Amino acid sequence: MAEKEMLELPVRGMDCAECTLHVRKALASLPGVENVEVFLAAEKAVVRFDPQLANLQSMRQVVEQAGYSIPEVAGAQEQVPEDQTSRWSDFTRPVLTLLGVVFGAVLFIVVVGEWLGLFEAITRRVPWPVGAAVVLLAGYPVLRNVVRAALQKQVIAHTLMSLGVAAALVVGEWATAAVIVFFMRVGDYVEHFTAERARRAVRDLTRMAPKTARIERDGVEIEIPVEQVQPGEAVIVRPGEMIPVDGEVLSGQATVNQASITGESMPVEAEAGARVFAASLVQMGMLRVRATQVGADTTFGRVIRLVEQAEANRAEVQRVADRFSGYYLPVVVGVAALTFLLRRDPLATAAVLVVACSCSFALATPIAMLASIGAGARRGLMIKGGKYLELLAKADVLLIDKTGTLTTGKAEIVEMQFLADDLEALALAAAAERYSEHPLAEAVRAAAQGRGLSPETPEDFTAIPGLGVRATVRGRRVEVGNRRMLSGDVSLALELAAAAQRLEAQGETLVYVAVDGELAGVLAAADRLRPEVPQAIQALCKLGIRKVELLTGDNERVAGALAGQLEAQLCEGMQFSYRANLLPEDKIEVVKAYQAQGHTVVMVGDGVNDAPALAQADVGLAMGAAGSDVAIEAAHIALMRDDWLLVPEVVHIARRTMGVVKLNIAFTAVYNLVGLSLAALGFLPPIFAAAAQSLPDLGILANSSRLIRQAEMKADETG
Ligand code: ADP
Ligand code: MG
Repeated sequence: MAEKEMLELPVRGMDCAECTLHVRKALASLPGVENVEVFLAAEKAVVRFDPQLANLQSMRQVVEQAGYSIPEVAGAQEQVPEDQTSRWSDFTRPVLTLLGVVFGAVLFIVVVGEWLGLFEAITRRVPWPVGAAVVLLAGYPVLRNVVRAALQKQVIAHTLMSLGVAAALVVGEWATAAVIVFFMRVGDYVEHFTAERARRAVRDLTRMAPKTARIERDGVEIEIPVEQVQPGEAVIVRPGEMIPVDGEVLSGQATVNQASITGESMPVEAEAGARVFAASLVQMGMLRVRATQVGADTTFGRVIRLVEQAEANRAEVQRVADRFSGYYLPVVVGVAALTFLLRRDPLATAAVLVVACSCSFALATPIAMLASIGAGARRGLMIKGGKYLELLAKADVLLIDKTGTLTTGKAEIVEMQFLADDLEALALAAAAERYSEHPLAEAVRAAAQGRGLSPETPEDFTAIPGLGVRATVRGRRVEVGNRRMLSGDVSLALELAAAAQRLEAQGETLVYVAVDGELAGVLAAADRLRPEVPQAIQALCKLGIRKVELLTGDNERVAGALAGQLEAQLCEGMQFSYRANLLPEDKIEVVKAYQAQGHTVVMVGDGVNDAPALAQADVGLAMGAAGSDVAIEAAHIALMRDDWLLVPEVVHIARRTMGVVKLNIAFTAVYNLVGLSLAALGFLPPIFAAAAQSLPDLGILANSSRLIRQAEMKADETG
């Protein structure tokens, strides 16, 4: 089989949600194209194709035939220019637009005046062919698209209105036709504006991406485009500059504002050894940073990419709305036909065709979703699609992973019991844990370091999720983990069994160390509940989540102790329970069991060893995902900083977003229904129908903008 290629293409001219559908259809029709996703906000198409059958040239051609364009670019890396390219010069375009608006408005007033009987029939004095020519000229850009689409057997939003224009022309009402054309273009503009506004949230984000980096080459500082920085190279960041890469501070000291990643505007201190993120700002001081990730591989790069592509994860309401748009057109045509048959009134028929713009249905959902996703990204919430906001809004069960999620993940070894040589066993345990990213591994390493042991390297190493690690150190077989981790032949010496029992009774997490199949010691680790958890769970309870369950691979006692702490602070009516000794696959089963009962499950985890359960949940939330590629990939929604209060916040955002979506849809439906009825009954002359059809988009825009404004206000509060 031939290799498949992925190509990211900028697409111009998409001003309505329907447009993405047209571009998708056009590209998908090419032989060799396997999969197409088109994004309204990012103005991009992502195409998977067989390079032997399809190429950029053929793609550009079909996209152009569909009425859109792919600007000349070398490849996927190319930066999208910020403004629309245009054939018009900077001068002629606004002048023509202004003339068009003035002419259209005057004509509208005249026609309304004639209709009210205020003026004589002025427009009738203009010969019909002249009027018709004006209509065709003014409507050329829209009518051309309609004809193009029709040639491809496609019906677009303006197809019906164009039929209305044709009907008006046929009955000799060129002025009415001209007014319809005028409002078609106004509607176009409104739609363009709405789409732009939706794009803004995402585009503002991409604009924050660093563009240049300052590096030292041969002892001289030079500034280079950020794409040219190689991982491993050192970059220099001065006060007021943006850190261009993800990396590790080599030297220097600075306060760094990481708001673009975490949404937290309180700056953090960074010095040698600290991890820093691309797109964060050095406020005071200077840093030399060794690049570990550059460009799209950085946390910021990943977030941008995922947010840009979030449209692919459509909410169910949007699918329904899209399907409805499909039925809507035939219904309108039917109503128009009935109007004509029953009332024999071509103008009423034209009004029906004109008033019913379907585009608003297509816009109602994505505009609100995009607003929230874009606004969320600035608050440290990376949301992978409207689908997850929709599910989150109706979630009723919350499952929580323990270690690193409910607890700080900064465990500490509080007691150690060894059978024989203490230091030797501890050294072996620390070496075995050397490459594990588990909080307990960190604790074991810290304990060894505290005893003055220097880190050793294991010869081989396997992490067993939910159990522990197995490694070979200096030729010895070392196992570190919980009780179930120890191989069957390891027996618990009496002294250790007693110690283990005592420690477990205290609610401590036990870490067993076995060497060459013999138990060598037991360590007790303590980890604290994150302080903001009770407040966050209270808030979630107020938001209607009534069932919370703690899932842990740790022992019964630890889970029980933690649950006890939490239970005391829960709100009334909330059910709280826990399950201990779970393996990662058991957690998946718990999620599935709740889903089978018809619950919508949110799972909060750290995204590392609980990734499978996060994926299985309806909505998987990963805590503190900044800097963890695994967590960002695994989660449906990634919380970029370690703050439990983000959990109720994102649930709240989800509820509000769905509220706005529903209002948008209801408003559009009622508006169109009333409009259609009035038009069919002859109460709405085509000129008013034309004016009316451009309004619902504005309503949707205004309604959805509330989501952005609210997030901006929140950001100011914390700022
Ligand atoms: P949780 O489900 O609470 O998040 P995990 O699934 O990460 O916990 O781990 C479950 C249990 O497995 C831990 O309580 C610990 O006993 C053991 N464990 C897992 N990884 C390690 C490790 N690297 N070192 C020691 N013990 C481990
Ligand atoms: Mg965990």
